[in-house]
Amino acid sequence: MIVKPLSKPVFLEQLEVLKKRIPTAQPKREEIIDTHARISAGYAGEKALYSLLSKLPLDVDSRILFDLRLPLYENFHFQLDAVLLTKRYVLIFEVKNISGTSFLDGIHRQLIRDKEGIQSGLPDPVSQAERHRIHLSEWLLHHHFPSLPIDSLVVFTNRTSVIKSSPDYADARLKTTRIENLAASIKQIHATHHNKAINSDDINRLTQLFLTHHSPYDPNILERFSLTKEEIQIGVSCPSCGVIPMIRLYGKWSCKHCNETSKVAHQAAFNDYKLLFSKKICNKDARDFLLVQSRNTVKRLLSDMNLRSAGAKKNRYYFLE
Ligand SMILES: [Zn+2]
Repeated sequence: MIVKPLSKPVFLEQLEVLKKRIPTAQPKREEIIDTHARISAGYAGEKALYSLLSKLPLDVDSRILFDLRLPLYENFHFQLDAVLLTKRYVLIFEVKNISGTSFLDGIHRQLIRDKEGIQSGLPDPVSQAERHRIHLSEWLLHHHFPSLPIDSLVVFTNRTSVIKSSPDYADARLKTTRIENLAASIKQIHATHHNKAINSDDINRLTQLFLTHHSPYDPNILERFSLTKEEIQIGVSCPSCGVIPMIRLYGKWSCKHCNETSKVAHQAAFNDYKLLFSKKICNKDARDFLLVQSRNTVKRLLSDMNLRSAGAKKNRYYFLE
C-alpha cells in the first residue's frame, strides 16, 4: 500500500517559476536552467518508479513511501527517493534517470557518464544509497525503533541508457537494477530475508514516525541562487504565450503579444509569488507584483480567492496556501 504518494517537489515548482521569470541576460540563468533540467529529470525518474511500484503485488502489511526527507542531526537531512517497508526488511530506492552510458567505477567510486562522446563524473549512486542506508539505520536507532535489516537498490530509469561497471565492483551488480528488471530485483532481495523482524503494529508505528518527521525541501529560492527580489520579472504571465506582463483592462487580463484575455491569470501569478518570495502577501506587495495601481481592484482579486487573512485594513495580509 502506498501511504505517501509521489508529488511534485516544491523545489522543482520554484525552479519552473524562476526559469520563467529570470531575465534572459541574467548571468545566473544558465545555472538555473541546468538545475531545473537535473531536478526535472530526477522527478521523471521517480514517476517511472512510482508507476511500477504502484502495480507491484505486495504483502498486505507492506508500505511504500515516496520522497521522504528526514532530519538526522542539526541542519542535516537525508532524502530517500522511495522506501518499501515490510515485516522482514526495509528497502530504500535511489533513482537515477541518466541518459547515455553510465560506467560505475569501483576503484574511485564514481559514475562516469558518457553522452555523445563527452565524459563527465558524477557521484557513485551505489555509495550514495549505502550512505542513506547508514543514515536510516542511525535515524531508527535515534527513535528507539527495533533494529531491522535495511537494503538499498539503485534504479536506473532511463530505458535507452547503457549501464556498465568495473568487473570487481560486486555491489554495482548486486545493488543496482534497470527499471524493467525492478520486479525481479525486489523478488531477489525479498528471498534473502527469511525472518520476521517486526510486526504489523511496528509497521504502522514506523509509517507514522516517517510521516511525522518528513520535512520537505522548501528552500528560499532567491537565496539559493544569490538573487535579489529586484532581479525577478514581475507581472501576470499570459497563460497562452507565456509573455509577462499582461495588462489589466476592463476587469480582465489582456496579453499585448497574442491578444489572449483571462479572468483568472492573477491566480497563477500569486502562486509564483508564493514560490519565489513569501507565503503571505499584503495589498501593496500584490499591487507591485501584479502591476496594478488600484488598491480596490487588488483587494477584490484577493478576497475572491477566499484566502485566509490576518490583520486589519492596511496591515492585512493574505496567506497564499
Ligand atoms: Zn499571450
